Amino acid sequence: MNINDGADAPYWNGLADGVLLLPRCGGCGEWLWPALSRCGTCGSEEIQWTERAMAGTIFSWTRTWHRFGFTESLDLPFVSIVATVDDCGIRLLGRLDDPDQIDPLIGEAITGRIGATRVEGRDIPTIIWSRG
Ligand SMILES: [Zn+2]
Repeated sequence: MNINDGADAPYWNGLADGVLLLPRCGGCGEWLWPALSRCGTCGSEEIQWTERAMAGTIFSWTRTWHRFGFTESLDLPFVSIVATVDDCGIRLLGRLDDPDQIDPLIGEAITGRIGATRVEGRDIPTIIWSRG
């Protein structure tokens, strides 16, 4: 898996550098996700990678109790979420700190930090979200 050569490479490189960078069209201002090399709204190829705070709300979640591929480094159970990032509407997949196994609430406020998920011997940057 090479995460550093696609249209979303600045996202991964940003996480590796400790910041959340998300793409915004320089032509019309639309936030673009998944990352694209051209805006689907206005056709501009001017993509501006913009730092965003790791703050948002829970859009959806699931708690995983059984192991499957690429989850070898995670303690079971773990909670995966889709987080809506504040002020841009982009939704990102991530993990939620879940030490007490309390069911998350849709719309609950969360903040993120950058961690890592070990996959096939390599640490992949991951946003780990926490409540509040
Ligand atoms: Zn545009």
